[in-house]
Amino acid sequence: MERFVQRLDKAKEAIDEADYVIIGAGAGLSTAAGIDYGGDRHERYFKDFIEKYGFTDMYTSSFYRFETPEEQWAYWARHIFANRYDVGKTDVYTKLLRLVADKEYFVITTNVDHQFWLNGFGDERIFATQGDYGLLQCSKACHDKLYENEELVSELLENTSDCKVPSELVPYCPVCGEEMDVNLRKDNFFVEDAKWHEMSDKYYDFLNDIDGKFVFLEIGVGFNTPTIIRFPFEQMTYNNDDATLIRLNLDYPQAIEENKDKTISFDEDVEEILDYWLSRI
Ligand SMILES: [Zn+2]
Repeated sequence: MERFVQRLDKAKEAIDEADYVIIGAGAGLSTAAGIDYGGDRHERYFKDFIEKYGFTDMYTSSFYRFETPEEQWAYWARHIFANRYDVGKTDVYTKLLRLVADKEYFVITTNVDHQFWLNGFGDERIFATQGDYGLLQCSKACHDKLYENEELVSELLENTSDCKVPSELVPYCPVCGEEMDVNLRKDNFFVEDAKWHEMSDKYYDFLNDIDGKFVFLEIGVGFNTPTIIRFPFEQMTYNNDDATLIRLNLDYPQAIEENKDKTISFDEDVEEILDYWLSRI
């Protein structure tokens, strides 16, 4: 790789010359923003669960199969609170918005923590493909309506004891009576509501309507679900002479061979990179 500052300048030039910026964001962006699923944050929010279940971080514990819905909802209320309602604005997302504020931009993200909205990105410019911690759905997807959960989450938090919530607070589907679930894509029952489809259409319309130079700014997208952002960005970069791919990734910054002249890779700290670009606006 070229020297850091050379890559920074080259990427900044590509952003300056672009009329359109498509941000593709994965877990690494929220980690960079301080929404860390392990370490101190995990211990601060989950002390009782760590003692009882031996959890090591919020990522692995989110796959844990609890024996009862009372335990499951005690866990999830805490997880949602920690990563959705108790976070607010973050410097990294705020800086990212400043970087693209005067561009035609669009966001596609696999993140479910609502950070793009919380930091002021336009609601009509965000396609969150994998769901949102703040929404509930029928666990059997019997209908495609989503339900805000902020009030329920605070009620569950207040009434948790010994890592359990009272049975009467466990939410059930108002249509079929099955249990509710958080709107996260983890099985075939993920609900894509009307808004999801509207934003999916807007994303593809945005890509189709591009007329001029554009940049794919990919941040923190690994190989968990590469077919959503990483591979399509590579494909579209390969197919378009007007495209540049800027890839920020601590672990997998590499360009594919076919795109190596059109990709600028960074494995450095996201906030440091944003600070450098913003200092040159
Ligand atoms: Zn149902």
